[in-house]
Amino acid sequence: MIHYQVRCAAGHEFDGWFRDAASYERQAKARAIECPACGNRNIERAPMAPALGRVRAQPAREEAPAPKTTPASPDVAAGGVMPDHLRAILQRLRTEVEKTCDYVGGAFADEARKIHRGESERRGIYGETTPAQAQALSDEGIEVASIPWVRRAES
Ligand SMILES: [Zn+2]
Repeated sequence: MIHYQVRCAAGHEFDGWFRDAASYERQAKARAIECPACGNRNIERAPMAPALGRVRAQPAREEAPAPKTTPASPDVAAGGVMPDHLRAILQRLRTEVEKTCDYVGGAFADEARKIHRGESERRGIYGETTPAQAQALSDEGIEVASIPWVRRAES
């Protein structure tokens, strides 16, 4: 089973458990996933892996915003285990990441490599990646970080 945080077209986010990634794709395409809040079946994955890191193994020429990623992490935030103050910090972190980093979605690993090689503009990015991809990036000296992607503060 894998866990995805998913989001309906109206912006509600909720937790979804799927047998595997292909199973999620199938269900999403078939509109078999329904938003518990509004019944919307137009579902997409919410970004789970912001990555703010620094690119290592390169002369620090300039302040280098680093690629950062969140391998779809087992959701620390699930089930109300997370203390409120910690959740609040993560919500602020999420807001900051969304404000200052480019969302590259599933292209995260590719984009992180391009930035590392100087083929892409150096900047902070976030998106989704698999734990295997994150490990591969790390092996290549590209630092990525995974943060629990909590729901936005409800206000
Ligand atoms: Zn909804």
